[in-house]
Amino acid sequence: MARLGDGKPFLTLVATILSARVRDEVTETVVPEVMRRWPDAESLARARPGQVEKVIKRIGLYRVKSVRLVEVAKKIVEDFGGQVPQELDDLVKLPGVGRKTAGCVVVYAFGGDALPVDTHVHRISNRLGWVDTKTPEKTEQALLQIVPRSWWSRVNDLLVFHGKTICRPQNPQCQICPVAGDCPIPNKK
Ligand code: SF4
Repeated sequence: MARLGDGKPFLTLVATILSARVRDEVTETVVPEVMRRWPDAESLARARPGQVEKVIKRIGLYRVKSVRLVEVAKKIVEDFGGQVPQELDDLVKLPGVGRKTAGCVVVYAFGGDALPVDTHVHRISNRLGWVDTKTPEKTEQALLQIVPRSWWSRVNDLLVFHGKTICRPQNPQCQICPVAGDCPIPNKK
């Protein structure tokens, strides 16, 4: 997932929504143009999804995401005074915003405590035997029980990096993995 917009909640929220199932390089080129045209929730709430579509058409699921972005912006204007809420429980009230996206905003925009679980975090936590879960949602709940709160906000960054470089979904590089000694099943695919 792209980690964009540190300290800028609206940018982080937009970037995280757009980044789902999209390569970072694509997200990183599209998000600045979105922000140039619609720098805040008020302006995006006034846009038509068709206008947004034209700007984000390089992004996977761009039609769905165009509608979603405008809906999210409207909700922020109507219910949160135009400001992205800080609390995870409020963020998940935004249309289509799940706990992973909400957690990324809490951590990367507000510097708060959350443990966003994407496919990398879910896969590696299971490979390492930290959890035994079938879904990212279950993984999040399990990790929250075993990871000290002071580490919650670092887990996503660390495991996403590990997942993109070494513990990739296919052909994990177990022979050069620095935590192979702690992994119960090295060479696990
Ligand atoms: S040893 Fe292999 S499966 Fe285990 S964490 Fe390292 S790369 Fe992933």
